[in-house]
Amino acid sequence: MARLVLKFGGTSVADLDRIRNVARHVKREVDAGHQVAVVVSAMAGRTNELIRLCREAAPMHDAREYDTIVSSGEQVTSGLLAIVLQSMGIDARSWQGWQIAIKTNAAHGSARIQAVECEVLRQRFAAGQVAVVAGFQGVGPNNRVTTLGRGGSDTSAVALAAAIDADRCDIYTDVDGVYTTDPRIVPKAKRLDRVSFEEMLELASLGAKVLQVRSVELAMVRGVPIFVRSSFEDPDADQTRPGNLPPGTLICDEEEIVEKQNVTGIAASKDEAQISLRNVPDKPGVAAGVFVPLADSNINVDMIVQTISADGSTADITFTVPAADYDRALEVLRADREGIGFQSIEGAQDVVKISIVGVGMRSHAGVAAQAFRVLADKGINIRAITTSEIKISVLIDSAYTELAVRSLHSAYGLDEN
Ligand code: ADP
Ligand code: ASP
Ligand code: MG
Repeated sequence: MARLVLKFGGTSVADLDRIRNVARHVKREVDAGHQVAVVVSAMAGRTNELIRLCREAAPMHDAREYDTIVSSGEQVTSGLLAIVLQSMGIDARSWQGWQIAIKTNAAHGSARIQAVECEVLRQRFAAGQVAVVAGFQGVGPNNRVTTLGRGGSDTSAVALAAAIDADRCDIYTDVDGVYTTDPRIVPKAKRLDRVSFEEMLELASLGAKVLQVRSVELAMVRGVPIFVRSSFEDPDADQTRPGNLPPGTLICDEEEIVEKQNVTGIAASKDEAQISLRNVPDKPGVAAGVFVPLADSNINVDMIVQTISADGSTADITFTVPAADYDRALEVLRADREGIGFQSIEGAQDVVKISIVGVGMRSHAGVAAQAFRVLADKGINIRAITTSEIKISVLIDSAYTELAVRSLHSAYGLDEN
């Protein structure tokens, strides 16, 4: 007998038929004798709709009320799934974040989980009841409902799995695992059997939205294995293949991965914008002059490139900021034009960050050089570069996103044969 957390995303619970299908997955695990807690997202499109309503009500609105509204999608799904499970003869009960309680900080809209008090759930488990937990939501220090940021149900699931010492957290979604790149952009993408926590963390932060970044962070810290699989598989297919794992991807420790590739995956992120400052005097303290005010305004700077003029007296500084902070960043810099001393400021939002990730890069030279060659051959200009031990990111024009991802995917031998 194992203790499992099963999480079902928005497309998996998009309508009642899909919810019935989800219930069959749950029933299979219950029938196999496992203790099961389920985490659900809002029905597909519902969260977007609720966010739109908030914006229509008032473009600038109270974040506490935003959370009250957008958390409601998950409440509906948890109740619906509990009803369907009950109608199948399974003892099930829905739980909202505050009822468990999933305690978070007060950062409404992107709250962090601080503690999961699951004593009640443990008691229900012992009595054989299935808990259906509304994902994405928690309760803040003032007893108000909070939400965990877009895609946050993944984090609810992993946090719950850690709290109840689950053997595994199964993330059911609309693809049957983690692929070498988004299978919707590159149909030739291959499913990966295993991905290390570290690689998944990079892939998720760099644009692969299959798992929320924080869920991977938490799984890595708390040692919770995650299995990503499709909810669209026939729920009973496993029973006809005893001992066979269904198609899917296990996110686990690097030591558990035997075959290490140089490059595991490629991700694309449109969440960044570029800013360039021209003709900044090249003297000590200039970088601090640019980046300290941005940091003080809570704006994260990612890629940075500095080029010096031929006579060495001035420099151009190019960097990226989150797309959502673009306008604010320009404002902060313009306000300090005299202090920083730049001649002009330019920005671009039609850019994309393409990243190549793989733990094998630690021991293999030439991975970056190969990327630069591939992009050059396609006539794609690189605006900025950043690297870490297991990733290389390049900033390019967004018009070339698909061409770049596909070409790199082939060049690193990731295409499905
Ligand atoms: P859910 O609603 O189940 O949480 P999401 O839409 O958040 O599902 O995440 C699943 C989607 O992630 C897939 O439909 C796929 O398009 C996208 N995706 C992006 N990169 C990858 C990748 N490397 N592997 C698998 N899916 C990916
Ligand atoms: N429903 C929320 C969202 O769309 C949370 C989730 O699906 O994980 O972001
Ligand atoms: Mg998701």
